[in-house]
Amino acid sequence: MRVPMGEDISGDDEHSSLYRPLDEGARVASRGLGEEVERPLGLRTMQAPRLIEHPHHEVAPLLHNRGMSVLRFDNVSKQYAGGHEALIDVSFEVAPGEMLFVTGHSGAGKSTLLKLIHLDERPSRGAVVFDERNLLKVRGGDVPRHRRAVGAVYQDHRLLMDRSIAENVALPLILRGTRRGDISKRVRSVLERMGLGHREKALPSQLSAGEQQRVGIARAIVGEPKLLVADEPTGNLDPTLAAEIMALFAELPSRGTSVLVVSHDLPLLRRMRKRVLILDHGRLVDDISPQDLAE
Ligand code: ADP
Repeated sequence: MRVPMGEDISGDDEHSSLYRPLDEGARVASRGLGEEVERPLGLRTMQAPRLIEHPHHEVAPLLHNRGMSVLRFDNVSKQYAGGHEALIDVSFEVAPGEMLFVTGHSGAGKSTLLKLIHLDERPSRGAVVFDERNLLKVRGGDVPRHRRAVGAVYQDHRLLMDRSIAENVALPLILRGTRRGDISKRVRSVLERMGLGHREKALPSQLSAGEQQRVGIARAIVGEPKLLVADEPTGNLDPTLAAEIMALFAELPSRGTSVLVVSHDLPLLRRMRKRVLILDHGRLVDDISPQDLAE
């Protein structure tokens, strides 16, 4: 089978039930997100999930100004030692105040994409541009500074279990050298927003799984990052808690933080009605706008 660009990506496909490549795969992925979505996804998206594909996208006007993106992947490929191509020619752009999801089968390249944003890995080709700075130029002491500028939320939240909630949330500000008085004010304010104002002295082990994840989010946003990335943040939560956490993420764009969430919880993605990027064997095979997601 060949894609319109003339490249064969069918390959071995052990995880193909939801995310099969090419036309069929794109339709299947689309069905996974909403039966009502009827678009020739394969044809359109295989050709070019380029930077500005959706004239009706909620933030499309911003994307037309190349100076306005928070994050941009320009034809990014990543080949690991040993030759495996985890990402192939991936391009997309995230506007200020935009929330989007990245999904795809296991091994599709989702973690690699996050690692490139977080500078845990470097691209083999192409450029990752954060806040109009090519990350290739971020080296040495600038790397931890960059990591602090991108908030990160993990499935296992990675809290310090012997420190109080307030201390956990304060950590990024302490590392950044924020003044003490400011730290306690900001920690209190962000914990209030997460509905945890009354638990600031508790230890993480005294909190429920959903509350622990909210502490993880508080810690990630206390520094007011331009971008928050989350790796399967609701993977360990039941559907109600997952929806609660997603609602908290959805509030962040209005406060100036763009949000990129990796998730393969398709029912949840469908309910959220946000932009969805679909990775398939390292390729960005679809970039679905909220308007194209069915109820
Ligand atoms: P996902 O997060 O979607 O499951 P990954 O980004 O973890 O996908 O992996 C994409 C592909 O790259 C997989 O085939 C994986 O085996 C491979 N891969 C990931 N990390 C490495 C690595 N450090 N070295 C070699 N191959 C890797």
